[in-house]
Amino acid sequence: MALLVSKFGGSSVASIAKIKHIANRIKSMQHKGDQMVVVVSAMGDTTDELITLASATGGELCGREMDMLLATGEQQSAALLALTLQNMGCDAISLTGWQAGISSDTSYSKARITGIDTTRIENELKQGNIVVIAGFQGLSSQGDITTLGRGGSDTTAVALAAKLKAERCLIFTDVEGVFTADPRIVKDARKLAKISYEEMLELASLGAVVLQPRAAEFAMLYNVDVEVLSSFSSNPGTIVTEVENMERQRVVSGIAHDRNCARFALFDVPDQPGIAKTLFKTLAEHNINVDMVIQSAMRDDINDIAFTIEENDLSRAVPVVQSLVEKICASGMFYGQDVAKVSIVGAGMQSNTGVAAAMFEALADENINIHMISTSEIKISTIIDEDQVETAVRALHSRFELDKE
Ligand code: ASP
Ligand code: MG
Repeated sequence: MALLVSKFGGSSVASIAKIKHIANRIKSMQHKGDQMVVVVSAMGDTTDELITLASATGGELCGREMDMLLATGEQQSAALLALTLQNMGCDAISLTGWQAGISSDTSYSKARITGIDTTRIENELKQGNIVVIAGFQGLSSQGDITTLGRGGSDTTAVALAAKLKAERCLIFTDVEGVFTADPRIVKDARKLAKISYEEMLELASLGAVVLQPRAAEFAMLYNVDVEVLSSFSSNPGTIVTEVENMERQRVVSGIAHDRNCARFALFDVPDQPGIAKTLFKTLAEHNINVDMVIQSAMRDDINDIAFTIEENDLSRAVPVVQSLVEKICASGMFYGQDVAKVSIVGAGMQSNTGVAAAMFEALADENINIHMISTSEIKISTIIDEDQVETAVRALHSRFELDKE
């Protein structure tokens, strides 16, 4: 008898009809004798609707009360799924994140899981229950409800799978798996049968929304076999696992893009030790994630510094950067949200030369200007104008022949 952790995303629980559909699927999986832990997201666009509701109060959209509010979305779907399962004759119980023993740190809206006490879950499983758990939430050491960042139910599921030593973590979603690029942009994008943890982590971090990056990180750290598959079909999905010798098979596995990017440029920054520290430490203290950074060559003891952040953080970041400009005696700043990030990811880059050149050539052929570049062993990212994203993704997909097996 295996223990399976399954997670159903918002689109899979968007209505009672859909909840009934997945309840049937869960019931048939349990009939094979498996112990079932099921993690759910909030129904459809509930989380976005709760944010809109909160914005009408005029209050701050982050902090304790926001997490208190957003966590209710997952509680609804967990209870509704448990009720549906019970009505179908299954023993089922729903648990909130804290009832399920999930502890987190205190960084509201981006909390990290710090531990899981699985006693309650294990007791419920022993009694024959399907255990339905509200994803995306934890309890801080101060006893307050926290949420784990957008898409955080994935992380709840993978963390539970790791802790419960589940045979596999099934991530049910509205697409059939991990694709070589967003199929809405590239018609001949292909579903990958397998992908390595490292590649999945890069793709997720670079904008492929199919799995929350932290979930990929957890899977890699604890060696959890994850399958990303569709709630609405019975086709096999994509297995995320340790893949040996992958690099011999393909140089580039996928193209990711992310429109949630904004950029800043600071002009005439004094070229002195400690300036970058002041800048980025202050941004970190305001919980603003900096992604790419470039510094121009020095001229007359000054240089320019440009960096990107998440577009969602832009309105909070502008006053912070404005005050930093004064503090570090820069001459001024510029910011904009008209940029996006397009990246290629592949384990095979480590052992192949000319990949960057091929990428830049494909972009140049489309007359796409590159504002920033960053690389790691298995990815190359570029910042380009947002209105050129689709052209770029298509050009790269065909340049690296990702439509072919
Ligand atoms: N409901 C949350 C969100 O929309 C968490 C999740 O779906 O995983 O981001
Ligand atoms: Mg943008």
